Formats: sequence, C-alpha cells, structure tokens
Amino acid sequence: MIDRLHFTGTVYRNPYWPTWPLLEITQGCTHNKCKFCTMYKDVPFRMSPIQWIEEDLQEIAQCDPDARTGSSIPSFLILTA
Ligand code: SF4
Repeated sequence: MIDRLHFTGTVYRNPYWPTWPLLEITQGCTHNKCKFCTMYKDVPFRMSPIQWIEEDLQEIAQCDPDARTGSSIPSFLILTA
C-alpha cells in the first residue's frame, strides 16, 4: 500500500507504530528553525492537495475497511510536521 500513497521526501515514522499506514496532510515544517533538526531543511512547508488526501484515504480504506483514527488506538496515523 505505501507505494500507492502520496509522500514527499523522507517519511519519519514513529517507532512505536512501525506498521500503521500514514496519511500525509502537510509537508515540511512551519517553523523549520531548530538548530539541531535537519528533517525538513530541503522541504518547504505546504498543505497536501485535497485530492491527494482523498485518494490516500480511499487507498487506506480499501486495504483496511475498518481503519479509524481519533481513538486511543488508531489504525492509521495522520502525518504532519
Ligand atoms: S520539525 Fe520539529 S524539531 Fe524540526 S525544525 Fe520543525 S519544529 Fe523544529
């Protein structure tokens, strides 16, 4: 599934949730000024196009019709910086 979702640049995945699908809704970082961080130095901040988000939600739903988020145990994660 991951190769059919829209991702920009490197995907930083939480090690506690290594296999859950990610939904990217933004790229880059709105701050991007922390001296210790190089995660998004080359990625300008922007919102994902709504069409990408809709396509990715449909893809996640096809792979897992019971996928939900917003609970204490989400079945997919929303990726923002
Ligand atoms: S991603 Fe986090 S740590 Fe890195 S520059 Fe942005 S706010 Fe700072």
